[in-house]
Amino acid sequence: MTRFEPVIGLEVHCQLGTLSKLFCACANTFGAPPSTLACETCSGQPGALPALNGEALDLALRAALALGCELAERVSFDRKHYSYCDLPKGFQITQARTPLGTGGSLELSSGKHVRIERLHLEEDAAKILHRGGESFVDLNRAGVPLVECVTAPEFASAAEARDGLERLRELLVFVGAGECDMERGSLRCDVNVSLRAADGALGERVEIKNLNSFVHVHDALAHELARQRAMLEGGRAIARETRLWDAERGETRPMREKEGSAEYRWLPEADLPEFALDRARVARLAACLPEPPASRRRRYVEELRLDRELAEVVLESPASSDFFEAALKHSRDPRAIASWMANELRALLRERAHGIAALEELPFKPFDFAELVELASSGRASRPAARTILREMLRSPRAPRELLRALGLERIEEGPELDELCQRALEARPEALADLRAGKLRALEALLGAALALSGGRAHPDAARATLVRLVREQRP
Ligand SMILES: [Zn+2]
Repeated sequence: MTRFEPVIGLEVHCQLGTLSKLFCACANTFGAPPSTLACETCSGQPGALPALNGEALDLALRAALALGCELAERVSFDRKHYSYCDLPKGFQITQARTPLGTGGSLELSSGKHVRIERLHLEEDAAKILHRGGESFVDLNRAGVPLVECVTAPEFASAAEARDGLERLRELLVFVGAGECDMERGSLRCDVNVSLRAADGALGERVEIKNLNSFVHVHDALAHELARQRAMLEGGRAIARETRLWDAERGETRPMREKEGSAEYRWLPEADLPEFALDRARVARLAACLPEPPASRRRRYVEELRLDRELAEVVLESPASSDFFEAALKHSRDPRAIASWMANELRALLRERAHGIAALEELPFKPFDFAELVELASSGRASRPAARTILREMLRSPRAPRELLRALGLERIEEGPELDELCQRALEARPEALADLRAGKLRALEALLGAALALSGGRAHPDAARATLVRLVREQRP
């Protein structure tokens, strides 16, 4: 049987998180009432002139730099013509001749690098809404800035392609390019897929468009690879075509073609004169790029010895990773910090304790968090006590140490208070005391449990055990 090797590439569109659109001052906001964010420029009125949004250029440059792309010497734009109801101007402004970035690479979870062929800036089209058999056009999305990132066809499986998209999304989020939410359409993915036979012959390439979740990317590719393999093994030829993924039926099917690329009638965009990229500006952007997530992940797992799973939780967002790093500066126990973030802190944010739902809203500093974790790790506060303090930190400006005292949660390790607690435990459990005197050592655990309960978890277990033993010896009948 012939063996075939998958050849997969990704084309990813990311909406840039700018305040305004790419070529006009209309707000770049998701969820506004349809066509309320549109002006002469983005709705394509005659005579309206585009002006490049510098913030969009900066964000695209950050993305290109983070991927290690070589940057174009000059920035220029082109018109891509086609006639469709989502394109009020009749053309889209994009970068065809000279993409902003070329080369560069994306690091996958396995450590493999996939080359980036090109990264360019372009404007989004309007959105078509289908309601009750009718179609409407929402102009709010027309002119929203996008970066399109095209990888080399170097993914070797559906799972690897999915990982590539996840890693690219993570990188774009960490450099602050945009929110990259596939559900809201601010990150969109097309894939191209073919099979290479053992003799090196490459099959026809099929493009699958508009994949809007990581699961769809994986499933559509897995299905398409199986379809192509079955066709080639049956001696049938694969048509070069564009297909769509039908998630409900679990299959890809051909999409009606708009038109071939030869008919796009490419033209340089004369309303946006080309200009030389400002190298000083690029150097400034490069200097303040954050450490990429792939390198953070490696450091967390290899140097800080976090479990892979814990590292993933910490890397959930730039805010989370930055919080972890900042707390780490005041702690020698990365695992305890990560574990408290992943469990206790996350649980409080999920339940919106004291109205706080995100790390960015926390009223305390990573420094305070590190101190709290230290109180728990050192045993100065029991785990339940530390949890209570953390909850209180969401509304109190006081340091964890102060809260420990103020809330009366300090450990009881010695002194008359501990003696009294243990005495009350002995009196409360006379049968356990009798058992202990009869030589049943397990009864000591019952007495200890009673003492700890009476202290509300504050008594230090070792100290309480020693005190119980001492009291029982002193009070021999
Ligand atoms: Zn506008």
